[in-house]
Amino acid sequence: MPAAAVLSSEVLAKYEPVIGLEVHVQLLTATKAFCGCANHFGSEPNTNICPVCLGLPGALPVLNAKAVEFATLAALAINCEIRERSIFARKNYFYPDLPKGYQISQYDKPIAENGWIDVPTADGTIKRIGVTRLHMEEDAGKSLHDGFADSATRTYLDLNRCGTPLIEIVSEPDIRTPDEAFEYLTRLKEILLYTGVSDCNMEEGSLRCDANVSVRLKGAERFGTKAEVKNVNSFRFVRAALEYEIERQVEVIESGGHVMQESRLWNAAEGRTYSMRSKEQAHDYRYFPEPDLPPLIVTAEFLAAAKSKLPELPEARRARIIADYELTPQDAATLTASREFADRFEVAAKGARSPRRMANVLLSEVGGRLKALGLEQENSPVSMDGIVLAADLLDEGKISSKQMKQLMDVCFEKGENFPAVYEREKPQQITDSSAIEAMVDQVIAANPKQVEQYRGGKKTLAAFFVGQVMKASKGQANPALLNEQVTKKLEG
Ligand code: ADP
Ligand code: ZN
Ligand code: MG
Repeated sequence: MPAAAVLSSEVLAKYEPVIGLEVHVQLLTATKAFCGCANHFGSEPNTNICPVCLGLPGALPVLNAKAVEFATLAALAINCEIRERSIFARKNYFYPDLPKGYQISQYDKPIAENGWIDVPTADGTIKRIGVTRLHMEEDAGKSLHDGFADSATRTYLDLNRCGTPLIEIVSEPDIRTPDEAFEYLTRLKEILLYTGVSDCNMEEGSLRCDANVSVRLKGAERFGTKAEVKNVNSFRFVRAALEYEIERQVEVIESGGHVMQESRLWNAAEGRTYSMRSKEQAHDYRYFPEPDLPPLIVTAEFLAAAKSKLPELPEARRARIIADYELTPQDAATLTASREFADRFEVAAKGARSPRRMANVLLSEVGGRLKALGLEQENSPVSMDGIVLAADLLDEGKISSKQMKQLMDVCFEKGENFPAVYEREKPQQITDSSAIEAMVDQVIAANPKQVEQYRGGKKTLAAFFVGQVMKASKGQANPALLNEQVTKKLEG
């Protein structure tokens, strides 16, 4: 296969990509989907296993109610309809890491269908991506191909993962660009993290994505034949794999060929996809209803209980935070990056004299310093309470913003929290209004041009005079008195 780079952008522009994503998510239940074994990543191999998850003859599955609750929460969070009566099915295939010889999944009657996720697009609008279905299933074990002395000739099996509860979320083929796919995945992960049903840790395999993609001539009605890129382990790689795959398919078509319906593997090191042997992909899963499990009934009570556990979701929370604290969308996005952080911020902000000022100290003073140092919020020397104190002192005019910045500098230099530094340094403040008045007079006398402009209507120059006096006072002028004097003198 020649490199795809020979395609001109004009040729590519004749085609429209069509993308649909299948995302597998491990649920954070204490135990597995159908047995009482621990659902835990990183245990010694083959220690969290029992006759049920190994599929020994006669062992019977019992559905984990927590897994149903989590699946329901996730489904509600992505706007799905919950089916009152859903059916588990056996998906049969042979693979060494699947000792039962089948996976318990759901087929034509999944627990949830017809949802959607809103994603931002390149032109600033919001696009609604349909979610076809969300179904419950169990994970398989793991084949260990590397890391043993005899890995060249043997493959080892770790069956701890067998029976781990999963949800699979299948999107409609509504996605049109690799960037949209990236956004969809980012939003989906964020929503799932907010609901708390999964840690979505891609390195540990708690979230896995298969990307389906086809291309068609723009304006064509029918979809082209799709290829499925399997098991891409980061969202960036999904985007890169889709970009590669789109070019590859266009090239196949442009050179008179046909895209094959197949599964392909992404090779991150080479930045390309490879066809998986098609024979092994020609599965007939022989789905049939799982005879050992009754239909899953989601009662009205169960559904109501799940709804009541649904947290405020990221999009809604951002909108509310923008309104409540008069912040920019960018600031709101920073504050809601995780539910835990947003919670800590909001609890603290409620205790501040001015929640908006508190948010600003958090974002620009503390956030700015953390960013410059490459630190995360949880490693900040200044706690939320420290930020509240700083904001309150500013609000009461007990310190100037310059003094606050100096105190924050000390906090970050010495790794100390704000209250301790403030108590020790207790910055001086000039509260003698005649002293401040004298300084204001001086600055006004030294800047006749700005005075003229101010009096000619450029009122924003007040800040310039305040700044000059503040500088002259080494940041010690009481801000309220200073503002008062500046206005009085300029207006007078
Ligand atoms: P399969 O039967 O091969 O599993 P499905 O119809 O179940 O295919 O779809 C699997 C995923 O592929 C879904 O996310 C769907 O949106 C997407 N998909 C289906 N047809 C196409 C297509 N022609 N091009 C791109 N994606 C597609
Ligand atoms: Zn078990
Ligand atoms: Mg399918």
